[in-house]
Amino acid sequence: MARVVILFGPPGAGKGTQASRLSAALGLPHVSTGDLFREHGAKGTPLGQAAQKFMDAGQLVPDAVVLDMLFDRTSKADCKAGYLLDGFPRTVPQAEARAARLAKTDHVSVLNLQVPDAVLLERITGRRSCKACSNVHHLRTAPPKTAGRCDKCGGELVQRSDDTTKVFGDRLAVYRQQTQPLEGWYARAGTLVDVDGNRAPEVVFEELRSKAFPEPSKGRA
Ligand code: AMP
Repeated sequence: MARVVILFGPPGAGKGTQASRLSAALGLPHVSTGDLFREHGAKGTPLGQAAQKFMDAGQLVPDAVVLDMLFDRTSKADCKAGYLLDGFPRTVPQAEARAARLAKTDHVSVLNLQVPDAVLLERITGRRSCKACSNVHHLRTAPPKTAGRCDKCGGELVQRSDDTTKVFGDRLAVYRQQTQPLEGWYARAGTLVDVDGNRAPEVVFEELRSKAFPEPSKGRA
């Protein structure tokens, strides 16, 4: 039986921050498609270069590219007992393709982080990410001890090219159009749990942890 936890929500909802902590607490590897694309981008692979154009424009990378990369990652030995997805799925075809690969005994829970748009914008534009380890700081709410340096590894903190006000608007529009319809898809499967993400990170974390695993009778999508 594999346990699959999907962190769902708009850009800036706190998926990345919570996924790192939940991954440790639940003992499941953190699989972030955005991080995988950024790793490819940093290495300059063809996949990374192709993805960067979509990312810089706030658009989604085409499903076929995302799915190949994701299945390559989740077929690794560390994902055998389950994994925590962050930033995937973002379209109905992505969700269908992943659900088609589930075994009968697998359990899925989708934790839907809900945060008002104005808060999302403030979180995204203040975000600074470590170039070396992807750890995330926020200029106002989680400033680094040394300006411009990651608290975890000392790496350089930068603003992601898609964390600007302009690109955020495009990303949110794409989320509403292409990703949010998945709420209905997962609600029908009985796997969706809403969580108020507009609270202190520790409070959100405790609720996510307590709701991460579904009742045995619930859906499998
Ligand atoms: P994230 O780090 O999750 O905010 O993702 C950053 C960017 O990577 C997104 O705006 C998309 O361009 C791309 N991306 C990440 N995950 C996906 C996905 N599941 N489907 C399509 N594009 C994705």
